[in-house]
Amino acid sequence: MLLTVATTHRPATDLGYLLHKHPDRVQRFDQSFGTATVFYPEASEERCTAALMLEVDPVRLARSRRKGSPDFSLAQYVNDRPYAASSLFAVSMGQVFSTARSGRCDSRQDLADTPIPLEVTIPVLPCRGGPGIAHRFFEPLGWTVEAEALPLDDTFPEWGDSRYVRLRITGTVRLADALNQLHVLLPVLDESKHYWQGPDEVDKLMRSGEGWLPTHPERDLITRRYLGRAGALRRVALARLAELGDDLDEVEPAAEEEVRQPDEKRVPLNAQRHAAVHQVLLDAQVRSVIDLGCGSGQFLERLVGTSAFTRVAGADVSARSVQQAAARVRLEQMSERQAERVHLFQGALTYEDDRFGGFDAAVLMEVVEHVDPSRLEAVERVVWGTARPDLVVVTTPNSEYNILYDELDGPRHPDHRFEWTRGEFSDWTQRVASTYGYAVEQRGIGESDTDHGQPTQMALFTRKEKQDD
Ligand code: SAH
Repeated sequence: MLLTVATTHRPATDLGYLLHKHPDRVQRFDQSFGTATVFYPEASEERCTAALMLEVDPVRLARSRRKGSPDFSLAQYVNDRPYAASSLFAVSMGQVFSTARSGRCDSRQDLADTPIPLEVTIPVLPCRGGPGIAHRFFEPLGWTVEAEALPLDDTFPEWGDSRYVRLRITGTVRLADALNQLHVLLPVLDESKHYWQGPDEVDKLMRSGEGWLPTHPERDLITRRYLGRAGALRRVALARLAELGDDLDEVEPAAEEEVRQPDEKRVPLNAQRHAAVHQVLLDAQVRSVIDLGCGSGQFLERLVGTSAFTRVAGADVSARSVQQAAARVRLEQMSERQAERVHLFQGALTYEDDRFGGFDAAVLMEVVEHVDPSRLEAVERVVWGTARPDLVVVTTPNSEYNILYDELDGPRHPDHRFEWTRGEFSDWTQRVASTYGYAVEQRGIGESDTDHGQPTQMALFTRKEKQDD
């Protein structure tokens, strides 16, 4: 099994820093199922290629299985694992390039954060569903894909194609993203997971999928294939991805799954949320708006695209999110006049910051539940006490609705510090409104359930005394 990663970014040998593997050395890593070797077939200023070769020892592989494993048979010793890139390869890649996958690189952090020209080649890759599926998985991530089905036997073309393809993908991608995408997509293409799946598989998928899987058009298929038949895990993963992605409606309440018509179009919850908050801002005829905790900028994109708003800002505590948001709204490509209208910056809502002030409206969409309860009062002071826009719109999950998400036995997102019932949200909004001189109205967003309400709850805070101070 062989995979090569090449770059023409100059100096190309910086690839060695990004991978944390020196281009002049051949390094071996012992693994439970074989040996991984990293080496560089070429390393010049113009072009550098790193190769990861995995030699699987079928005997060791069979022995590394748990006792009593159900399929103890000859197939464990005689199989394609030794020469076909597969899920084992992903495991190996995950371990050998774990630091590179995390995106950390002390000596070249800027480069690690930057998309660079990359070319990844895998000569033999098991690919269930044929080359088309490789296109569907890699192209939405910005790769140019060449996937060529390998014949069963060169000398007997009439026998047709095997289930293997030769894959070459090229694109300008952050190295960490490329490695994480491969880490998830190789076993997904192979679709034959060999190791037992524990509950932490979902966490692993979330980590490797960060920044690309939640918004991937084939997210559901990828998740299903990655987690295989483990239906419960799959549902949890889909719920969590949907929240990040961020459309919870993808995860259907169990009872509805059967009766739903397959062609019935549903508007994802995040889209409904964006539309609802957007409408509130338009109805209030605000001219300037700041999206506090803007994340990767999905809603911000809509704000920027609305000419009624003469000034639009986005802030987030995460630098990565601010970068993603800037890329999404194409800040760099904007004309000077356009760019003057838009302001993006890194800032924490728990600290007073002049930049939060001076807007007609502020939006905190799915943000409060990420704030530690002990810090929530600080956020209230900063937003309602100091920034004091005429209108504040807050959305947050309705925890009562979670029961309708089958198998979701925790919060909708691991980073949620709490989720409120409608009553709890109401108590909080009333308290904030009366403390800071706002009137408040509570609404719901998304499909309504008689007992449990709507999946998202929203509050509109209107400042009682207008800007006469
Ligand atoms: N508003 C976006 C993102 C929601 S996720 C959306 O609706 O899609 C929550 C976001 O809040 C994350 O991007 C997180 O970085 C940000 N956040 C959490 N605590 C914050 C704080 N104290 N200050 C600023 N942003 C914060």
